[in-house]
Amino acid sequence: MTDFIDSQESRTSLPSLATHLPELMGRGMDFEDAFDHYLSVFVNGALDSDFLKPEYLKLMDHYESLIQPAVRKIEGAIQARVGVVFSSAWKADFRKALLSKPYMKLESMSSGSHGDCQACKLQDHPYSKKCTFTGQWYDPETLAEVNNEDDNSNEDDSSQERPMVIGDIPEVFKLGRFCAKRSSYHHQLNHYRYQILQKCKMKVNQVKECKLNKDDKDIFDQCMSNSQWKTKLREELEDLLKNADSYVDEKDHWK
Ligand SMILES: [Zn+2]
Repeated sequence: MTDFIDSQESRTSLPSLATHLPELMGRGMDFEDAFDHYLSVFVNGALDSDFLKPEYLKLMDHYESLIQPAVRKIEGAIQARVGVVFSSAWKADFRKALLSKPYMKLESMSSGSHGDCQACKLQDHPYSKKCTFTGQWYDPETLAEVNNEDDNSNEDDSSQERPMVIGDIPEVFKLGRFCAKRSSYHHQLNHYRYQILQKCKMKVNQVKECKLNKDDKDIFDQCMSNSQWKTKLREELEDLLKNADSYVDEKDHWK
């Protein structure tokens, strides 16, 4: 079995391939297997971004029996933690930047400057980290970057919805140590799909550079047979999930 999608075949046979395999094989799938199938979605997506669109994703072999349960398992583990590490104390401008910008960098600040955390603006939370958000707003489903000039800045402090528009969102915030750690977890979890796609694109490009004249199937197979690369990515995700869980354990101390 391969999770590779043949683009020509898939596109030409789109209407007839709506298979309805029973969702049996995905049940009881362990995290490692689930991650493997999950990653295959993004390697396909790195080769052809159309395959992140739901209508194409469904064309993958064993979509209903393996791919969909794997995606649900991995993204379920991520989503279960996103809400927990989110803080209702974060102000609207910080929230927008956190939710819309796919890159976040934290740097320690010199002890020379003093002030309150600019995310929560609580007085007893002195800032100690400089946080810089960069990157472009993207469609959360297809992960395609979006150039959206419309202003749709509905401020809804009670939700974690991704803002559809970036507008004039400040990109630099000075954060207290609690908000820095917590928002870093939130950002990594919330932008995980985007980040994993970028990592798959890098790997695909590396393989393309050393394997001239190889077709997409060869590139896909080479990426997916690289167990060292896959293990590293899986362990990074496991660490992230563990860190988010450890935040939950210490949560009471963070108030
Ligand atoms: Zn704060």
